[in-house]
Amino acid sequence: MRTLPPPARQQLEDSFAFTTVTPQVKRVADHGQTVKYLFRLGDAKTIETVVMHYDATTRSRARTTICVSSQVGCPIGCTFCATGKSGFDRNLTEAEIVDQFLAASRDLGDKQRSLTNVVFMGMGEPLNNYAAVVGAIRRWAREDTLNFSPRRVTVSTIGLVPFIERLSAEGLPVNLAVSLHAPDDELRSSMIPVNRKYPIAAIVAAARAHAERTGRRTSYEYVLLQGINDSMEQARRLTTVIGHRLTHVNLIPMNPIDGSPLSPPSKARAQAFQSVLQGAGISTTIRATRGLDIDAACGQLRARQLEPAATSPA
Ligand code: SAH
Ligand code: SF4
Repeated sequence: MRTLPPPARQQLEDSFAFTTVTPQVKRVADHGQTVKYLFRLGDAKTIETVVMHYDATTRSRARTTICVSSQVGCPIGCTFCATGKSGFDRNLTEAEIVDQFLAASRDLGDKQRSLTNVVFMGMGEPLNNYAAVVGAIRRWAREDTLNFSPRRVTVSTIGLVPFIERLSAEGLPVNLAVSLHAPDDELRSSMIPVNRKYPIAAIVAAARAHAERTGRRTSYEYVLLQGINDSMEQARRLTTVIGHRLTHVNLIPMNPIDGSPLSPPSKARAQAFQSVLQGAGISTTIRATRGLDIDAACGQLRARQLEPAATSPA
């Protein structure tokens, strides 16, 4: 608005915010295919957002996926997760979720590629911040905003059963990813405290109902932890727990985190685990690790930035 005198422009700039997220750190890895942002919020708290480019293959088109955060920290406290270890601060607002998409899009500029998919796999438990997450999905979808289809959005949850049921009733064709990580309740409760409240059978039943209702298959996330949940017997038990109808399993070799003795299994062991699932007719992939050198595991960039000595400007 150059027709306004400079003091008025300054006053406008001081009085209004055009975004709720400001890039504080940006790191690029995997030859430009992975970009990780640390965004600063209005109250100086920070969150992580990751953009991942995937080239076209014979089976799929090129994609650019943004991994967004839903909370500052996370109250669930899973043993293997950097975000869980950092504790919980607050929910993000709908605007802060929406703006992660807009800020990353702006930064992509006109580099030919635009965001094609959203996954709620950054910091936080999205179903613990239900209204803001569903509000953001609906806002992206509006024809007068981005017209971005909920079919391209995946909500990843640790398994908050009542909210999975509520999500199914929204009439939104979103994809559901369930972070299962263990085939029995005893083990799962030792890794994920909230499993005592919502055990495996209840989670799988809610996920099945969502899949039947939307026709979209459930993706089960399974972080492979060496010597803990990676045996062939555990793979067999997993097949009976989830069944093969409308399911897909994503095996994620654990990304080591600071101060934890947990580690990923060997590649051969991960592949053997995968073969057991595939043998039972369950479509299974092993997730390729992205951006290890930029602290790509959930919550790690922020964890390191919070250490007093580690600051690097954007
Ligand atoms: N709270 C939600 C979404 C955020 S976590 C959930 O748990 O599903 C997104 C995914 O990252 C989850 O599947 C989670 O288990 C996984 N994850 C967390 N810490 C990890 C680590 N250290 N290595 C690999 N995957 C991890
Ligand atoms: Fe929270 Fe998900 Fe991390 Fe568990 S894995 S602590 S639910 S962000």
